[in-house]
Amino acid sequence: MKELHREVPATKGWGAGLARVPEGSDVDLDLRLESVVEGVLVSGTVRARVDAECARCLEPVSWDEFADIQELFVYPPQDARGHRVDVEADDEEDAPPVIEDDLIDLEATVRDAVVLRLPIAPLCRDDCPGLCVECGALLALDPGHRHEVHDPRWAALEALLDEGPKDQQDAVRDQETARDQETVRDKAHDDDKDD
Ligand SMILES: [Zn+2]
Ligand SMILES: [Zn+2]
Repeated sequence: MKELHREVPATKGWGAGLARVPEGSDVDLDLRLESVVEGVLVSGTVRARVDAECARCLEPVSWDEFADIQELFVYPPQDARGHRVDVEADDEEDAPPVIEDDLIDLEATVRDAVVLRLPIAPLCRDDCPGLCVECGALLALDPGHRHEVHDPRWAALEALLDEGPKDQQDAVRDQETARDQETVRDKAHDDDKDD
């Protein structure tokens, strides 16, 4: 068995929803490599930095995510003489990863292990109060925040008040129409005089 510690940069696209591992950020790998009959069994722990937005208040939040990995990398299939043969896999998705030219490509294994652990709804803290539904204020900064609660008994009066500006607009429009008509009448009158 061989132990291996590596620090590698995260590649592009390690994310899900509101959380992601920033491209280029350090990913720590603490791995054990075991030689087995079919290939090499890789197991260990991954640590990656996660940047996210809180699902309730949208404030930025970061943490270190740890994920366990275990994956068997198989030797490429060979014929009796030790030459590599290409075998059509029934289902590429389920086929174990293959050791290519004595190299193990851990990227997909590590990425999948981390991304699977990313929360669908990250929170800046468990009891984050989120945003005010009325005005979008950050409630964590303003715990006493509230708006006037409307009494249903006043609702009818409020409806009348709401109609106020519209009535005024109608009135203005009526006045304008009347003025236009007057102008036309005056013009006709002037024309009469000219005759
Ligand atoms: Zn929050
Ligand atoms: Zn508010």
